[in-house]
Amino acid sequence: MDSKPWRFTKMHHPNKTERVCSYRHCENTYEGRSDKVFCSDQCRNHARRDQLKTEKWNAPAFYLKITEIVKTNHKILKLQYDEKGENKVISNFLLRDCGFNFEFHTRILHTSKGIYRFCFDYGWLELENGKILIVKNEKMVEI
Ligand SMILES: [Zn+2]
Repeated sequence: MDSKPWRFTKMHHPNKTERVCSYRHCENTYEGRSDKVFCSDQCRNHARRDQLKTEKWNAPAFYLKITEIVKTNHKILKLQYDEKGENKVISNFLLRDCGFNFEFHTRILHTSKGIYRFCFDYGWLELENGKILIVKNEKMVEI
């Protein structure tokens, strides 16, 4: 009833070859078909998780840069709004001096007064003579 001779035969089946697990933290060897690259389901899952992490890490440079610009814009608008109150007009030079970037925003609102551009819930409207109207609109962050 000793099963060892049978297992011995199976281990050395000519169609199976010894392989090294493809998961980088694993050095296990295993015997298996040529399309099998990991020694276990656990290693396959670990490798998949690593791959997803890498994909996230390799996000294009503009992804982080533009996110930072929009966040900075939002911070500046909020600061100005809190400081100067609702519907306060300031000069666009002042915004620029704070590090504001007029090129990037999250939403646009077309009104009879003109085009409002928003960075999340704070926005601005360009008036005449380089003046800027800062507004807040909660609807601009409703998804
Ligand atoms: Zn492994």
